[in-house]
Amino acid sequence: MSKLNQKIYDIAIVGGGASGMMAAITASKNKASVILIEKNPQLGRKVLATGNGRCNLTNKFADVSRYHGGNSQFIESVLKNFDQFTTMNFFENLGLILKEENLGRIFPRSDQASSVVDALIGEIENQNIDIVLGNQVRKIEKVGEAFKIVLQDSREIITHKLILTTGGKSAEHLGTSGDAYFWLTKMGHTIADLYPALSPIEIKETWIKDVQGLKVEANVKTIVNNEKIHEKYGDSLFTHFGLSGPAAMAQAGFIGPFLGKSDVKISLDLFPEMELKKLDEKIISIISSNGAKQIKNVLAGLIPSNLAPIILSILKINPDKKAAEVSKVDRINISKILKNIELTISGVRPFKEAQVTHGGVNLDEVDVKTLESKIVPGLYFAGEILDVDGDSGGFNLQWAWSSGYLAGKSCAN
Ligand SMILES: Cc1cc2nc3c(=O)[nH]c(=O)nc-3n(C[C@H](O)[C@H](O)[C@H](O)COP(=O)(O)OP(=O)(O)OC[C@H]3O[C@@H](n4cnc5c(N)ncnc54)[C@H](O)[C@@H]3O)c2cc1C
Repeated sequence: MSKLNQKIYDIAIVGGGASGMMAAITASKNKASVILIEKNPQLGRKVLATGNGRCNLTNKFADVSRYHGGNSQFIESVLKNFDQFTTMNFFENLGLILKEENLGRIFPRSDQASSVVDALIGEIENQNIDIVLGNQVRKIEKVGEAFKIVLQDSREIITHKLILTTGGKSAEHLGTSGDAYFWLTKMGHTIADLYPALSPIEIKETWIKDVQGLKVEANVKTIVNNEKIHEKYGDSLFTHFGLSGPAAMAQAGFIGPFLGKSDVKISLDLFPEMELKKLDEKIISIISSNGAKQIKNVLAGLIPSNLAPIILSILKINPDKKAAEVSKVDRINISKILKNIELTISGVRPFKEAQVTHGGVNLDEVDVKTLESKIVPGLYFAGEILDVDGDSGGFNLQWAWSSGYLAGKSCAN
């Protein structure tokens, strides 16, 4: 076996994704000799796939409330070191023009994720950072105070300090196969249970197949043993297996821990802006001026037309009945179901379909000020490998930039 370049690096970074590139740039700017190792043939492969290829790189409203994980004080402290405005300045200084879209989401003005990756690669080249591409790290060993990294082609790299930025387990086709969890467990770290997050939801009720392709704007709630554990307003899309779309996918990370153990349901409120009583009054008024029409046609004025017969069939109301003949009890039940379409969750789509990983390196084992391991001196972490996941909307990449910056800076110092 040969040592790569026979050089001992100050810092080696394993994982050339969002946080790895940020850590490499920051460490190098702080005068460390840096090598960045990536198993894909290119850097930032996942970043290229973000935001449907447009890269929603941060969010103007990023704050701790948009994150889920082991310790909110930890998350808040790391975000403060390099917040969304610093992120925007950082990219603008690299020559990237940014634009804001609804809900504070920030994109490159080019609408191309490749602009973001190119800007980072340009800076990495500028900083003379050594790069290894297309070579998976197979093994990591502590050798005295240093680390030995063994590559797929058997070459070895020796480094004083190591930053692990290998991401989570989601979207494995983009490189993230969760390799580091194994190394870390062997080194004495614990990994908070891993679940797919921002992933579509599988639903038991078979009628959903009849409305596949239908998009609804609704308040989506996850209910465990009759208690709401999470909710999000936005679009949901009916598919052949269940629900996709941002509001439904946002539930996934919360569902995982309860699946198979508790009664887990999802509830869609199609009229979150109206109290039940208001909605019922609205339906009374519509029925009073359209009493001669069939109830299915009257309902189609309120909700998508292919959903109307399904709602009526769930309530066992004849869809051809004249609206004026619908009983008070049935009418109230219509209002109730429009505010609470209850669906039984049978599963969450697997990691390969998830955008992020819930769970990861236990935050209690990491120094919040430096992101250094409390168990293995000289080992640092950044990005999704840690037990932190964010909402959709640019929050996950913001975590990668914030934590990548902090790990790179503190490691170099
Ligand atoms: C389809 C999709 C769309 C998304 N859209 C957005 C969005 O618009 N906005 C947003 O904020 N977030 C988005 N995310 C989430 C975001 O991309 C991630 O949270 C973020 O990239 C995590 O950064 P990271 O540096 O921790 O890991 P990654 O960017 O995943 O990088 C980890 C890198 O480590 C490498 N690696 C792993 N194991 C090894 C090994 N053994 N040896 C060498 N290299 C290794 C991998 O190949 C990978 O390149 C999206 C995710 C997906 C899947």
